[in-house]
Amino acid sequence: MSTPPAIPRLGALTLAEIRAATQRYHQDGDAARWELSVARTLAKAHQAAYLLGLAERLGVKLDSALLNTRNLSRAERAELKQIVQSQVDYLRRFVDVADTLSEAQINARADLYALAPKQSYWQARTTGADLPAMPGDGSTECLVNCGCAWEEQPDGWYWMRGKNDSCTTCVQREQEWAPYQLVTSDESAI
Ligand SMILES: [Zn+2]
Repeated sequence: MSTPPAIPRLGALTLAEIRAATQRYHQDGDAARWELSVARTLAKAHQAAYLLGLAERLGVKLDSALLNTRNLSRAERAELKQIVQSQVDYLRRFVDVADTLSEAQINARADLYALAPKQSYWQARTTGADLPAMPGDGSTECLVNCGCAWEEQPDGWYWMRGKNDSCTTCVQREQEWAPYQLVTSDESAI
């Protein structure tokens, strides 16, 4: 189970929207409009990625009528909202310092947001498994570039390293989370 092709496609669409908004910002300098526009794109992209992960977990087609945000459970809705909120918070901090950055720096940093929706995919795909981190959630050295995947096997969830992933965090997770063992506070105290 690796990342489905729909995720890079979604990433490409998201990237195009973010780039268009950022280009407009370079022209008109309207930071508030830029922020709003990118935030909307991110909300849409994370929602699409989340529904994609849910479709795979539930084994339903992506175009199933059952699969829309209205049918999300309260917990799922909260989970998605939390991810989008953290992205919007990062974006705000970025926009706040944008006038101290060069155009190239702004473009490079804005591009990274297009890679983040895969964490929403994995979150939905693995809901209920209580896993400590998601590929692309920024908790590895490779940050949003992470191409690793979670794979469920009979004895648990394995962190499968992406073929272009060689950062220390991803290598370590491949070894330690094979499968991932939930450490309770009692065990860690021994
Ligand atoms: Zn990785």
